[in-house]
Amino acid sequence: MATVVIIGAGMGGMATAARLAAKGHTVNVYEHSDTWGGKLGHVSHGEHKFDTGPSLLTLPAVYRDLFLKTGRAIEDSIEIVDLDTAFRYQFADGTVLKMPGTGIGSCAEAIGDALGGNSADEWRAFMARAAKMWAATRRPFLESPLNGMKSLLKLSWRVNDLVTISPGRTLRSLSEHYFSDPRLVTLVDRYATYTGSDPRQAPAALATVPYIEQTFGAYHVAGGLRELGRALFERCTEIGVNFHFNQTVEKITTNERVTGIELANGTHVPADIVVANCDAAQVYSSLLNDTALDASSRDVHRLQRATPSLSGFVVLAALDGVNDELEHHNVFFPADYDNEFDSIFGTSSSPRPVPDPTIYICSPKDTAMAPENTESWFVLVNAPRHDVDHGVNWTKEHAHYSELVLDSIERRLPGSRARMTWHESISPADLEGRTMAPGGAIYGSSSNGAMSAFLRPRNVTAIKNLYLVGGSSHPGGGLPLVGMSAEIVATHIGRA
Ligand SMILES: Cc1cc2nc3c(=O)[nH]c(=O)nc-3n(C[C@H](O)[C@H](O)[C@H](O)COP(=O)(O)OP(=O)(O)OC[C@H]3O[C@@H](n4cnc5c(N)ncnc54)[C@H](O)[C@@H]3O)c2cc1C
Repeated sequence: MATVVIIGAGMGGMATAARLAAKGHTVNVYEHSDTWGGKLGHVSHGEHKFDTGPSLLTLPAVYRDLFLKTGRAIEDSIEIVDLDTAFRYQFADGTVLKMPGTGIGSCAEAIGDALGGNSADEWRAFMARAAKMWAATRRPFLESPLNGMKSLLKLSWRVNDLVTISPGRTLRSLSEHYFSDPRLVTLVDRYATYTGSDPRQAPAALATVPYIEQTFGAYHVAGGLRELGRALFERCTEIGVNFHFNQTVEKITTNERVTGIELANGTHVPADIVVANCDAAQVYSSLLNDTALDASSRDVHRLQRATPSLSGFVVLAALDGVNDELEHHNVFFPADYDNEFDSIFGTSSSPRPVPDPTIYICSPKDTAMAPENTESWFVLVNAPRHDVDHGVNWTKEHAHYSELVLDSIERRLPGSRARMTWHESISPADLEGRTMAPGGAIYGSSSNGAMSAFLRPRNVTAIKNLYLVGGSSHPGGGLPLVGMSAEIVATHIGRA
């Protein structure tokens, strides 16, 4: 059995660590910050508790499988809570759509009731197409190591699959084909942002994201999603994973194959296998020596061609009283959604903070997070990355933008500001500082562009025994895909 070093105690790093320790490997995790979880962060203010990263769990089966395969059922550690209403959407014209937790049929009915016309039938037809896309892409794209164009060629004998996926088509173009009501186009656009992308450039196959949410459900974790991280950290330590916090890895050492890592304090830690859970852009920009970079030139080139993912600006607020209109998850759309994507990706000028952003408010109906007759809001607004040279300097914009977001909330929910007893904000620059994700990019690279899935960094690198795991590598970001990424890596190592 091998000695494995994992760089980073994010969910990807810990999920890989647990799977490898369960297979009998010796696993040491080196983490730059003083805690586990990475982007799955949290903040407490008195009795108010806030998730600062993920607030929605989809495809919990991925983590159920991880917990079962590494010891005991996940339910022994956390309570996964089914939400009756997955989302409350409010469109710019004031229309409110309350989307049920699970079931395409009931979601279509809710859409029909809120939007009228043919919207329910159109939603069913769109979801039927998404179901076929999910069936065609799940195994070759999500559950297997990325194999470049070979993944696509594997499908090519099944012409129907290729027609279903429509590799050259964008998500926006697919929804415009199915929907006569522009509000449904807006709704589907939102799902591109769950991969850090622009719906006008991201592939149509992202229609699988709402399909997964409505088929397999949208969940909360009692006490906050950070509890999922706590449970995984405890599982890791129970089965012998060693964690080293406040340890920044500065180099991955190689000699034709990986030989270990070097820490900021100069210590060399030898290893048979290194798994990098830090952002792939960090690996290829600063952790490898020139010889290893030469050997990785194709991977470096692919990464350079990808568009980085969007980031997020977060406001946390403790409020007195309860707004009965709000559900657990609430989305307020702006009048001009395209302007949001133009601002973030700098379509016609440099990237800039979104002037009138979509406001997402997570107000957990969970007394472990918000004491009786109060609310604990996690507000997330999509934002361009922190980029001092060519984009937005969030250190300068922070205070001003925080006010803009608070004003924007007040316009949508008058009286909120007066109820706030405390608030704090986290900018993309802060996210970069906390997690070392370049620019505070949430998902590494975005899915912008028809070839984006093939530009995503591969889990099995060109350097023998160096692996990449987590949201910036294949198959992508978000808790379920990060968990799948760990399974791909652990399975590959298991066979080595
Ligand atoms: C605001 C926000 C909202 C989100 N909402 C959702 C959601 O609702 N649902 C969902 O499923 N997903 C959501 N996500 C995405 C999800 O959080 C991520 O995809 C996932 O947590 C990434 O996990 P990871 O292990 O790949 O990386 P990370 O969490 O980034 O972990 C990487 C770890 O590596 C450490 N590290 C980096 N460099 C070094 C180094 N050189 N040496 C040592 N350690 C290092 C970092 O400190 C970090 O702990 C959200 C993310 C954010 C930021």
